Amino acid sequence: MYAEVKELLKKDIQKIKGVGQARAKLFNRLGVYSIEDVITYYPREYEDRSRLKKIAELVDGESCAFEGIIASKVTEHKFRKGLSMYKVLIKDGTGSITATWFNQHYLAKVLRLGEHFVFYGKIAGRYERLEVQSPVYEKQEAGKAKNILRIVPVYPSTAGLSQNIIRSTISSALDMVNGELIEFLPDNILKEYRLSEINYCVQQIHFPKSDEDFKNARYRLVFEELFMLQLCLLSVKNAFEKDRKGITFSKPIDIEDFIKTLPYKLTNAQKKVFAEIEKDMESSNVMNRLVQGDVGSGKTIVAVLALFKAVQNGYQGALMVPTAILAEQHFRSVSSLMEGYGVNTALLTGSQTKKQKNAILEGIKSGEIDILIGTHALIEDNIEFKHLGLVITDEQHRFGVRQRSLLSKKGDAPDVIVMTATPIPRTLALILYGDLDISVIDELPPGRMPVKTYAVDNNMRGRINSFVRKVVSEGRQVYIVCPLVEESQEIDAKSAIEHAKEIAENDFKDLRVGLIYGKMKSKEKDAVMKSFVEGEIDLLVSTTVIEVGVNVPNASVMIIENAERFGLAQLHQLRGRVGRGEHQSYCILYNEGKTQVSKERMQIMQKTNDGFIISGKDLELRGPGEFFGTRQHGIPELKIANLYEDIEILKKAQEAAVKLVDEDEKLEKEENFTLKTKMLEILNEKLYNITMN
Ligand code: ADP
Ligand code: MG
Repeated sequence: MYAEVKELLKKDIQKIKGVGQARAKLFNRLGVYSIEDVITYYPREYEDRSRLKKIAELVDGESCAFEGIIASKVTEHKFRKGLSMYKVLIKDGTGSITATWFNQHYLAKVLRLGEHFVFYGKIAGRYERLEVQSPVYEKQEAGKAKNILRIVPVYPSTAGLSQNIIRSTISSALDMVNGELIEFLPDNILKEYRLSEINYCVQQIHFPKSDEDFKNARYRLVFEELFMLQLCLLSVKNAFEKDRKGITFSKPIDIEDFIKTLPYKLTNAQKKVFAEIEKDMESSNVMNRLVQGDVGSGKTIVAVLALFKAVQNGYQGALMVPTAILAEQHFRSVSSLMEGYGVNTALLTGSQTKKQKNAILEGIKSGEIDILIGTHALIEDNIEFKHLGLVITDEQHRFGVRQRSLLSKKGDAPDVIVMTATPIPRTLALILYGDLDISVIDELPPGRMPVKTYAVDNNMRGRINSFVRKVVSEGRQVYIVCPLVEESQEIDAKSAIEHAKEIAENDFKDLRVGLIYGKMKSKEKDAVMKSFVEGEIDLLVSTTVIEVGVNVPNASVMIIENAERFGLAQLHQLRGRVGRGEHQSYCILYNEGKTQVSKERMQIMQKTNDGFIISGKDLELRGPGEFFGTRQHGIPELKIANLYEDIEILKKAQEAAVKLVDEDEKLEKEENFTLKTKMLEILNEKLYNITMN
């Protein structure tokens, strides 16, 4: 049964009545190839043309359906060559209205005097002078309403493909399917979440009989989409970790003693998250945990505590970070914290000499090195650990699922922590990282002064320059970030290089200007960063390489050129580089964007320092498509669910998926058979990125 229907659904759209080669090409442009694509090509919006009004009830400015008798001949008014207007008078018992169209010469043949039609269009004027321009019209035949007297779907389209064509193609495809789609959601889920049956929903999402039918249909389809996504993610997660016992870090250690040596007290949020990690580590399951915390919330120390625990239990730990700068910085802080405990920490980056590298490789293999910190170099083939027990990736959004799993494979089912500051609303994180448990550090260390943010334009450059001078004379340091001009790293670097040159020769001739960008050799980068850390550079011009993780508390001003070119979340990350010490810090956004949206975005940055609010707004202003950028998270495009608006449904879908997998992990029960088939299909077709990444 399932196979038969599936075969039909897979057929090319040219099998649909009225779709030939040319039309198929247009549909292809919209990503529609098969019959299944057609029936899941959901409307963008709807026009409610279901309520008929009397002509006397029509209101200026409203889009509305009305009926009437053609009360005049269609008259033609020629304006200039090629432009004609056609007019006709329509009457019902309550009044009259004039309808006009442009260039529809065949109208005279269609709208015949005395015949009865239904119209839909935007009303202009009032009383005796009512007008409607280019209304949709349809002859009144009982039960045959297509475009009027119902809620009409409006589809995303492309040139050459009218709404009418799309509607009738979908309608024909639905006829072919003839209500025989196989319900793949199990009965108990349909019941528990009050979901309507699939055939009804697919029909009603396109051609809803009423508002309520539409709501029912949409609810189920959104639920279905998110539920299936969650189910796929869970199955990937289980394939990862089930059947493999993890490590039990059971040896009690006095972590409190270690914590006491820190120069500060842990925040409650840090304690809470570490407790969650400890619990996972002490259990025999493999830990897969995402630690999310705004910039500056103190994620590093939580990672350090977990590493400490692993090492005290006789295992090795690895910390992987996206840039050499960050690796170096983590290495410095981790090794100094661990020194007193006889823990041996090593740094591995791409830029070391062969000799240095070999020594480290030896040490890891023999178990002499306890903690290894580094870049992608950590996942190279030749790296072998003696007994890797804990794997941490920092700034997870810079890595793919594949890199994470490569690092895990260096050990025998090690525990895994991934850390990210990308402030994704929690519910969205559930989708993006559905295969992970989530901990949130939702509190900043006490005493942080919020960074003061100002959006300015070039007219303010003189004043900002004097301000920079003043700050530097007080001993502080300044970051100046230039945007990615194009997707090319060379050009990207050029804008920073040029800018550095320009200010070093002109405005800030007397100050020490440094420069850092991604394409530089790691050694050079490290050298520049080191002199910035040591206070030998006043102004550091850079590309976004300093976006992640860098910690220089003496830097108190962040200037961002062409801030309009950055995403809000990224601006927030950049701003997070300052405000890390005891000095009042500032963020200056040079905004050359003139649009309303760019103004609004700058206002958000000025108003709040809360990464979660910012990412929520970003999502709202740019929409999920852009927010998730180049699909770097491996999330497939959603057809109907809106991650921003449908969060409540997402929660339910997630709950249902978790419960189902708890009860029938491999979906082996008979009642879940169709569901499993469908899931495997989706995994193969759409989630390729997530599983194979
Ligand atoms: P992020 O979460 O952005 O990675 P870091 O771990 O780099 O943040 O911490 C930012 C700064 O806050 C560091 O200088 C760190 O030493 C400091 N810090 C971390 N935890 C605390 C705390 N509980 N109290 C005070 N300062 C802290
Ligand atoms: Mg960090």
